[in-house]
Parts: sequence; C-alpha cells; structure tokens
Amino acid sequence: MSHVESIAVLSLAVIVVPASVAQGANKHYPINRQPLVQTEFVELPLGAVKPQGWLKDQLTVQANGLTGHLDEFWPSLSDSLWHGGKGEGWERGPYYLDGLVPLAYVLDDPRLIAKVKSWMDDMIATAQPNGWFGPAKNKDRWPLAVALKVLAQYHEATGDERALKVIQDYFRYLNDNPPDWPDDQWRGVRAMENVVTAFWLYRRTGDPAVLKAARSIHDNSFDWAKYFVEFPFKDPAKVREHKAGHRTHVVNIAMATKHAGVWYQFSKDDKDREAAFAGLANLDKYHGQATGRFGGDEHLAGRSPTQGTELCAVVEFMYSLENLIAVLGDVALADRLELLAYNANPGACTADYWAHQYDQQANQVLVSKAKRHWQTNGDMANVYGLEPNFGCCTANMHQGWPKYVAHLWMATHDQGLAAVAYGPNRVKAKVADGAEVTITQETDYPFGGTINFTIDAEQPVKFPLHLRIPVWADGAKLTAAGESIEAKAGSFAVVKRTWKPGDTVELVLPMKLRTERRYNNAVSVLRGPLYFSLKIGEKWTQIASHSDKFPSKDWQIEPTTSWNYGLLLDPANPEAGVTVATNKVGNVPFDTAAAPVVLKVKGRQIPDWKLVDNSAGDTPASPAVSSEPTADLELIPYGSTRLRITEFPVLKP
Ligand SMILES: [Zn+2]
Repeated sequence: MSHVESIAVLSLAVIVVPASVAQGANKHYPINRQPLVQTEFVELPLGAVKPQGWLKDQLTVQANGLTGHLDEFWPSLSDSLWHGGKGEGWERGPYYLDGLVPLAYVLDDPRLIAKVKSWMDDMIATAQPNGWFGPAKNKDRWPLAVALKVLAQYHEATGDERALKVIQDYFRYLNDNPPDWPDDQWRGVRAMENVVTAFWLYRRTGDPAVLKAARSIHDNSFDWAKYFVEFPFKDPAKVREHKAGHRTHVVNIAMATKHAGVWYQFSKDDKDREAAFAGLANLDKYHGQATGRFGGDEHLAGRSPTQGTELCAVVEFMYSLENLIAVLGDVALADRLELLAYNANPGACTADYWAHQYDQQANQVLVSKAKRHWQTNGDMANVYGLEPNFGCCTANMHQGWPKYVAHLWMATHDQGLAAVAYGPNRVKAKVADGAEVTITQETDYPFGGTINFTIDAEQPVKFPLHLRIPVWADGAKLTAAGESIEAKAGSFAVVKRTWKPGDTVELVLPMKLRTERRYNNAVSVLRGPLYFSLKIGEKWTQIASHSDKFPSKDWQIEPTTSWNYGLLLDPANPEAGVTVATNKVGNVPFDTAAAPVVLKVKGRQIPDWKLVDNSAGDTPASPAVSSEPTADLELIPYGSTRLRITEFPVLKP
C-alpha cells in the first residue's frame, strides 16, 4: 500500500485506534498510531522528570544566569516583536522560549513560569483565522518551526488547549497553502523540524490531515537521508570551495541528523533508519571532534582540534539525539547524548552561565578577539560573552540542559520505564495498569559511577525497569532489592519484579580510564562519559560589558601556565600512569577551581609545539619525543575548562 492510499484509508475511519495497543504498546502516554511505525520508547510529558543533586544546582545556575535574565536586558528579547516590542521578530524569541519553557517546568520555578506565561499568551494571541501565527511582520516559516516545539512543550507542561489549537491550525495552514521549502533558505533545509511536531500532534489527535502535511513537507524539501549516505563534503577544503552553503552549515546538519530517523516512523523504510546511523558515522569519520560533536565553524571544518563547533550545533545535536533515542532506542545514541551534555554543552559556557562562546575548540589555549582558521566565522567566535560573532547561540543555547533532563527517562511499551541517560533526578510516571510511581536517582554521575534508585508507590506494583548500560561500561554491576542482575555493556538491562515502596536498585558503572585516538594519532583520555583536559592557568580580562544591572560581559582568557605538553601514558593501559582524585560536586558544578574529578598524570613539554595564528599549532604526531624535564600535570573534566588541551601527543617512553 502506498503512503497516499494508507492516508486515504485512514481518513475513512471514524476512530483511529493505535494498532500497536493490541501488541502491547504503552497505555499511559501518547504513542504512535497507524500508519506510523511504533517508536522504541515513549517520551514523557515535560515536567515528569525533575533534576536533583548537582543537576538541580546546574539548572539553578542557569536560571540565575543568562536564561533567567536575558529577556530583561538583551534588546533582541527585551524589545521582541514576539512579546509586545518593536524589534526582532524572527527566530530569537522562539529560540529563547525553546529553552526557557523546559527550564521553567523542570525546575518548577514560579518566576520563570510567570515569564513563560507572559510570552506564550502573546504568541497564542497572534494566531490568525487562516492558521498562520507570529509577528505580523514575519512572512517566513522558519521561526514558526521553532515556535511549534515551544507550543508543544508548553502544552505538555500545562495542558493549555490554546497551544494545541495553534499547532493544529498551523498544519491546516500548511495543507491549505503550497509547499514553500526552498533548498537555499533556512525554512527549506530545516523543514523537517516541522514534522517532529506533526508526529507529536498526530499522537494526540490521530487526524490524518496532519500526516498529509508531514508527507508534503518531506517530499518537497531537501533529501537529508540521501545526503548523509552519500556524504559529499568529506574534505574541509572542499567545503571552503563550495562557498559555505546550507548543506555544509553545522547547525543545519546537527538538526538534520534526526530527520531520516524521524521520517522512518512514516516511511518504515530501513534505508531511512540506516541513513540516521550512516550520517553519524560519516560525521565522526570526516569531521568528528572530542566530546561527540563535529567540527563546524560555522561550516563543516574537519577533525583538527583547533577547529570549532558552534554552540547552536551542540544543543541542536543533543535535541536530535533525544528524538532519535525515542524512535530507534539505540544505546550508542544515548552514550553520545551524554558526551555532548556533559562535555561540549558546559565547555562552551562560563561556569556561572553568564557568558558563552560561539565556537569551542578541543585544544583551546587562547580565548581572544583575533583571526583564526575558522571556515567562515569572525574574530570574536571563541570569546566567552553575550553575543560573540552572532546572537543566534545567545538565544538558542538555553534548550541544552533542561531538555536533557526531560529526556533522562522514557516510558516503555511493556508498561515500564527506561533510564536512557543518567544524572541525579526524580521521575514521577505511570506504569503497569496506571499506578503512579516515583523513582529517585541519587548519584554524582558522571563524576562518579554509582547510581542509586529508590522506588516509591502507594502499593506494591509490578513493572519492568529498563536501565541503559553504556557501551563503555564493561563489568557494570546491577543489584535490585538485593538480587544481582545481568548488566551487559551496550544493552538495556531489564529488571522485572513487583516493587515494594522503598525498594532500591544499585547500578555501578565502572569508571575505568580509557583513551581514544584522534587527529594526528593524538590521544584523548576518558572516564565514563567525561573527556579530560589539561588544566591551564587563566588570566581573565573584561573586553566589554553589556549591562549595568547584570554581570553580562565579554572575556578574553590568556594562559598563565604552559600548555604544550605530551603525556607519558600507555594508551592501552592508562590506569597505570594516572591517579584519580575525586571531590564533592560544588554548587557551581563546572567551576574550574573546584573540579569534581582530577586526574594526575605525568608529561613533558614539546618546545616546538607553539601558538600558530592564535590557536595551538597542529598536534605533534605521536609517538612524540621530548627531552624536557618530567612535569606533574592535572587533567580535569572538559566541561570544567575554558582553556584546555584535550587531544594530546603521546611521548615515547
Ligand atoms: Zn548559533
């Protein structure tokens, strides 16, 4: 049956019953209905997962920093056309809300919720009878694709039916109007973002017209599945020649990593599923960077650790992975999500969340306004500030942490719950025949590997608990209510039992050091999902101030200690040459001075490794030679550093 026929058949049905219910699909949360293929996991509504412990501290830092105050002084928001102003009326308002809305509801913060309501009332009030919405001045569909995600999250958290209606009416508008998804415009190359919300809506309404709109968007926009399989831009030099079009743009690509996987729900074509994984493999192979990201400053930039990645691409890649995990359920996708969340995401921001970079570097030894080897970005791109280089990340960065927290848990089709990523939190959700359970996860993860779960419910309740065992976690140990359970690396361990209130589960993920070969045969050191970087002394100089009321400033950071070290380390057995010290996670979790984990390692300077064009020169090939004296070095989590070496030459013993 063709897709068109299947829609036609559906439209005759008065009630659309999810076919998979018969096969035992999740009964408590909106799931895919025919003809969509069933997803592996089911997303929980925004607000079901709340941060605890250090994650709560980190999100509180965010609420007290830029996210909680940006709209009070940054003209792009304080004078936004989306919120009663006269200024910017394109993507910045919706971008900001895409992070503010989840932050407000995962923290249950009344001050942020009041802001959200004020912005959302204004957005909802712009809806026109034909289904179009947003500032009257805006005729472009791109910012509306972002606004749809905002409206969906807001509806999940509040049940506000007005938000649902705006979404429904907009898909009616799309059906009533011709396709407008040109390959040379943001709205065109990013068109499939609308389909994420279309399927979200279809799960709730079963209205076949929504699938008609989704089908039209897919068929009339750029074919990212084909692109990721063929992968035409392997060589960064070719990217330069290509003059930086939409197909090499790092944020487009970060968003597009999910498009084939999202469309697989409709197409049921294995080619789409495979394209999702092929895209990640090709990005790793030709542009992969430490921390699971790929180089793009702001067009595909290759694997050298001094090329940058735009912050928008980091948070969009995280969101793409959260979508792909729900659809495809693959452990490696969740492993990568943790790499981005716990390394690249904090590494591009100051620990107090008052400044961010446009481009971050794995080997970042000088933060300053200066020319660097970026593909296209300007001299401000690695400065920590308010809107270095360009203000898109200033508006868009806020979604990273709160959406990550919201996706730590998902529901399963056997009426249980799955822990897809780890970090201290509390989830409240329905299981079994509808019993509500609360599971509290106490842990310092990713700084420590022991994760304790406590299950609470009114009555004893039988349901399966799915726990992700990362690919790197060989030797993981899982104990449920005193009973030992198999926990194989690279799989989901399933604990099926009748849980009594107060029952506990302990999962110990071994935090054994390991290494990864990178550009020029350099080595990066990992422990769990954390990359470790050389701690470099810093001299901060304020180069601009943006508010009298708030500490919003631009910072230059110069090194006060040497950075050009090779490591004396056996890459096959890094434990032998390294000692690990752990500290309590502080209230500002990514403060450089209070890193929760410190690796003590030995190395020697390589005098020929110098600054070239304001970045560390090309990493000397390993094994490298040095006759300099042996030095004691400290490596701390990548996310705790603003100056760093993450890809090291390895010295000949
Ligand atoms: Zn950006």
